[in-house]
Amino acid sequence: MAWIRFNEPFGTEEIVKMAVETVGLHLYEQRTVEEQLRQKMASLELYQGIAAPFFMQSGTAALEVMALAMEFTPGEEVILPSFTYPATANAFLMAGARLVFADIEPDTLNLDPKSVERLLSSRTKAIVPIHYGGVAADVPQLEKLAESCGAVLLEDAAHCIGASFRGKPLGTFGAMGTSSFHSTKNITSAGFGGCLFVEDPNRRSMVEEITVQGTDRAAYRAGRVSAYRWKRQGGEYVMPVFSMAYLRASLERLEEVTERRKMLWKKYHELLSPLEEEGFLKLCKVPESAGINGHVFYVLLKDRKEREGLKHHLHERRIEAFSHYEPLHDTVIGRSAGRCDGEMEITGSISGRILRLPMHMELSTDQVERICQAVEEFHRKRF
Ligand SMILES: *Cc1c(COP(=O)(O)O)cnc(C)c1O
Repeated sequence: MAWIRFNEPFGTEEIVKMAVETVGLHLYEQRTVEEQLRQKMASLELYQGIAAPFFMQSGTAALEVMALAMEFTPGEEVILPSFTYPATANAFLMAGARLVFADIEPDTLNLDPKSVERLLSSRTKAIVPIHYGGVAADVPQLEKLAESCGAVLLEDAAHCIGASFRGKPLGTFGAMGTSSFHSTKNITSAGFGGCLFVEDPNRRSMVEEITVQGTDRAAYRAGRVSAYRWKRQGGEYVMPVFSMAYLRASLERLEEVTERRKMLWKKYHELLSPLEEEGFLKLCKVPESAGINGHVFYVLLKDRKEREGLKHHLHERRIEAFSHYEPLHDTVIGRSAGRCDGEMEITGSISGRILRLPMHMELSTDQVERICQAVEEFHRKRF
């Protein structure tokens, strides 16, 4: 029997062909291709009316630019989940912030506002949810908490292209937000890529400067200044032309990709619900008003041993399945970089019990059925 892979990068011959054509016409015309990409994004229903994003070399690069734009001074703090990819933490650490790790909610694996509230201080400058698997965090509550102490909401929406809350795209709620087009995400810009949404108009020129070595080159190009100057810390972050062309062609398919992944996600959910009712596993509880994008489908097992058992059982049946983040707070660097919310009980528990199942565009509903049968078989075998 053929392996069912965990992930397959999204791309088609048509997308490659379109990207190559664009590059053939405009190889050294970065701004032309960028404008085409922005227009494509603005033409998608979900992204209409948002400020044009800045396209970056990776989601990590977008996080780094976002963190630099916060201009942290020593001692200022950022509250983030411990259950995330190290990129979230690295960006703020590099920008000079103290990291404050909050616990997550067991129903969504997103930042728990109660934990965030316990961690607020006069030094809190930003609160950073990640919207795990493209399922919205408790945005209204987190916004309220940020407001209460003069901090801003920043989103690491790396999982979230095509996902929304109350009809608005994730990544566009905070003052700034990032997304990723890495090949493991729903759509890709040919391997590596990301973007930065800057909804706060006062921050756009600073962000632009950071992406061009901290200079006002954009103002120079627009004829607003006679020579460009080095004004702040910055770097080389802008997405390469081929990636932009590839992403533009991929965006044509975004709605279809989101719909298909949602359909597969719902199929999993429906087929595994009886096992949840029997108490064998737990599934994600999608909050009302959250528009999902089917980025991740996971199950939570009773304990680490059972998770490893199920993973092994699936591998024996040629089905790839993986755990996910190991808590960042519980590491040598995590401890030296900041503080956390006590025992971080849910984070510790979830990281040992989560198992992610295959999810990608090549996956068929028959395969989802085969996977769910294998999960059920493992459950029955234990009695
Ligand atoms: C993928 C990911 C990133 C980094 O994005 P890249 O494009 O791979 O650099 C950051 N944060 C989270 C939560 C991610 O899943």
